[in-house]
Amino acid sequence: MDTAEFRKRGKEMVDYVADYLENIEERQVYPEVEPGYLRNLIPEEAPYEPETYEELTKDIERVIMPGITHWHSPYFFAYFPTGSSFPSLLADMLCGAIGCIGFSWAASPACTELETVMMDWLGKMLRLPEEFLAGTEGKGGGVIQGTASEATLVALLAARSRAVKQILAEDPERSEADIISKLVAYASEQAHSSVERAGLIGGVRMKKIPTDSKFSVCGEMFRKILEEDKAAGLIPFYICATLGTTPSCAFDRITELGPICNSEGIWMHIDAAYAGSAFICPEFRPLLDGVEFADSFNFNPHKWLLVNFDCSTMWVKNRADVIGAFKMDPLYLKHDHQESGLVTDYRHWQIPLGRRFRSLKMWFVFRLYGLRGLQEHIRKHVRMAKEFESLVRADDHFQIAAEVVLGLVCFRLKGSNVLNEALLKRINSARKIHLVPCQLSGRFVLRFAVCARTIESRHIHEAWTHISQLATELLRESLE
Ligand SMILES: *Cc1c(COP(=O)(O)O)cnc(C)c1O
Repeated sequence: MDTAEFRKRGKEMVDYVADYLENIEERQVYPEVEPGYLRNLIPEEAPYEPETYEELTKDIERVIMPGITHWHSPYFFAYFPTGSSFPSLLADMLCGAIGCIGFSWAASPACTELETVMMDWLGKMLRLPEEFLAGTEGKGGGVIQGTASEATLVALLAARSRAVKQILAEDPERSEADIISKLVAYASEQAHSSVERAGLIGGVRMKKIPTDSKFSVCGEMFRKILEEDKAAGLIPFYICATLGTTPSCAFDRITELGPICNSEGIWMHIDAAYAGSAFICPEFRPLLDGVEFADSFNFNPHKWLLVNFDCSTMWVKNRADVIGAFKMDPLYLKHDHQESGLVTDYRHWQIPLGRRFRSLKMWFVFRLYGLRGLQEHIRKHVRMAKEFESLVRADDHFQIAAEVVLGLVCFRLKGSNVLNEALLKRINSARKIHLVPCQLSGRFVLRFAVCARTIESRHIHEAWTHISQLATELLRESLE
């Protein structure tokens, strides 16, 4: 493909993408295919002779689209949203064109500097405490990770390294292996599975803390478990608190957990993967109170802030803790500029070496929506969730299973788990809308997450009418 053809095909592709997104609700949200469907549709081997672009594009509708779950359809209510917007798509195109690998300042100064500044912009939108901002000579600062899972792991590894160093400084005789074998990390029993996984990868014990009636971890329970563990000779060093849990969007009480962590020297990491975006609205910012006690904080603009995957923003109060844990400096990566607020070598802040120019997406989205536009997006989704909640509440067959705070509604039929499993099965087999379940206090619950950027009230009503029809049929049949 030469430049002339690229110009032509690029414009065609933009049209295809615009048509796809504009008409997405006409496509069935959940695909009909069986495992292995795709292998039968394409050759066993890559072509030896080059093919034409026409041959390729024909296969997008034939091979790819039949197997797509349309995450941006207004009938998609599963998991949590994944961000998408036109400014973000355009920025990703530019990112692909520049195609730099921004592991150090010298490897592409704009890539590093824009990231530092965008992380400060976003930190200010959230009104994060000053210590988390980089400024020009701050000790803290932000970094874009690929996912919340990586942020949780990076924080855990940094905390592990800090704890080992501190103990060795007090007791140089002790072996590192012995210290690590005594370390214990904590998270809510409602925490995301990636948190438990971080413990496995980091090679440390991870204990789950039971939650209260609102599915939140409170200070009292944490304190009780800490005392038991310390008495048993363990060394508590890290907690991952969740703001907006995946099952029900519950909030751990960080104003209670924070002071305990600070006085015990325990690293508090906050995972707000989904809910974090809402904190740009003053009315939701109180949910973040207590962040001042945290060592690190993370959320995913690629979930709810209109930035396409991947973009998971993480701030630390003390960058030396992270860099101290991971720094490697072979000669081929060295350059003349010392690390400071202005010169950040992000390779020391993450697991891989390579990194894309992801801050371009933030820059495009923040400038073209403005804080006001982003706030409107969040508020609209919360309004839609409340609308769905009131439809559920108005129907005596159903109940709400957890407080609706943001854009997630957990609900179920009054009745057995078996009944609710049957309802979900009918909903997803009909393929008109798509939902996933969760488990809360042993009960099978349906999760309705407001996802699409283009969602309107009519989609909420259509979804509810559909659900209540399927439920009526199910209840009638179960009586027969
Ligand atoms: C979605 C989610 C995650 C996982 O996010 P990734 O960026 O895919 O790793 C982690 N924690 C919570 C609370 C989530 O909702």
